[in-house]
Amino acid sequence: MANINDNFLKLKAGYLFPEIGRRVNAFCDANADANVIKLGIGDVTEPLPEAIRTAMHSAIDEMGQSQTFRGYGPEQGYAFLREAIATNDFQSRGCDISPEEIFISDGSKCDTGNILDIFGPGNTVAVQDPVYPVYVDTNVMAGRTGEADENGRYEGLTYLPCTADNDFTPSLPEQPVDMIYLCYPNNPTGSVASKETLKKWVDYANENGSIILFDAAYEAFITDDSIPHSIYEIDGARNCAIEFRSFSKNAGFTGTRCALTVVPKSLKGKTANGDEQEIHALWNRRQSTKFNGVSYIIQRGAEAAYSDAGKEQIKTLINFYLENASILSEGLQSVGINVFGGVNAPYIWLKTPEGMKSWEFFDHLLDKAHLVGTPGSGFGASGEGYFRLSAFNSRANVEEAVQRLKSLMG
Ligand SMILES: *Cc1c(COP(=O)(O)O)cnc(C)c1O
Repeated sequence: MANINDNFLKLKAGYLFPEIGRRVNAFCDANADANVIKLGIGDVTEPLPEAIRTAMHSAIDEMGQSQTFRGYGPEQGYAFLREAIATNDFQSRGCDISPEEIFISDGSKCDTGNILDIFGPGNTVAVQDPVYPVYVDTNVMAGRTGEADENGRYEGLTYLPCTADNDFTPSLPEQPVDMIYLCYPNNPTGSVASKETLKKWVDYANENGSIILFDAAYEAFITDDSIPHSIYEIDGARNCAIEFRSFSKNAGFTGTRCALTVVPKSLKGKTANGDEQEIHALWNRRQSTKFNGVSYIIQRGAEAAYSDAGKEQIKTLINFYLENASILSEGLQSVGINVFGGVNAPYIWLKTPEGMKSWEFFDHLLDKAHLVGTPGSGFGASGEGYFRLSAFNSRANVEEAVQRLKSLMG
């Protein structure tokens, strides 16, 4: 019998969202006429912008003509999209990033997991706690951890607690680490990093030869002009950072699928015999071997995100979700709840009232207000006592949710 990858058996069996689903289903079975409003999972709800749909329609028509039909495209993505991204997302903000350093993919979730292919198994890894679970689970699969303890913390990983006590800004690791995941604006806490905070990380990484894996999936939600959108706005980041971006949360591509990863050509790692190696060449080799590119139609849609109409329509979408966040946030504060995030991010991170545990508050909200959120403890041990509400919903649902919160806690 063939051996399996035993690391998979260390994984906490997809506990969070299945457990939420189980409790919600049980509640609905027992309360058939309850109108349950889900503010849990981080998925967008509003339709794709028109400029993007129009571009995809034209691309489909091109595929229907032999003169303009396209087969396999470049594994790294079409030049038209890489150029639009380099110009609009990076060069316009003073970041020295060229189109050749941008790799188009079908998602940031996949890229943040797949990137581990090109790094040594012995690297030490730091994550923020609470954390987007993909960073942790993919390192478990790759064998970089031991078993999880009763709080769900894996042996061998460095956890950087982010709580109200440190303003959700973690301290530098006490022991040097080789790879650091940073997510800003943060899922789940909705916190952001200032230029000074990112500079501290970039300096640390350059001094210690570490690589920062910077997830900027929510950069479009930044409203504060002083907050950097890209880690490459920080001097020295070209030598220590990979950045992940996605069209999922800004342009509504969660079901359409398109994302990008930036690997600067100046970024180096160390080989087993101590030589320096360009990381860009490795990721290019990895993608060319294991990936065959994103659909032409989808890439034309993503390109349209950078047209004048596309930019305008995306801005409207983002403002809509941010207004939802602000309605939720004000509603919660009006009944005395301590609220974080929700200003430069689509997530509200709240302190549970009266010291309730995260799951206790989950049951309370579901039972008494028929509202579903996500228990903070599901994102990591330091999320205990917190709770996440998502602003991805209709206005009517958000307003109804606030009314229910007010009658429950007011
Ligand atoms: C939603 C999200 C992404 C985007 O994932 P896709 O695979 O591109 O849809 C990446 N990182 C975080 C933290 C997210 O919440």
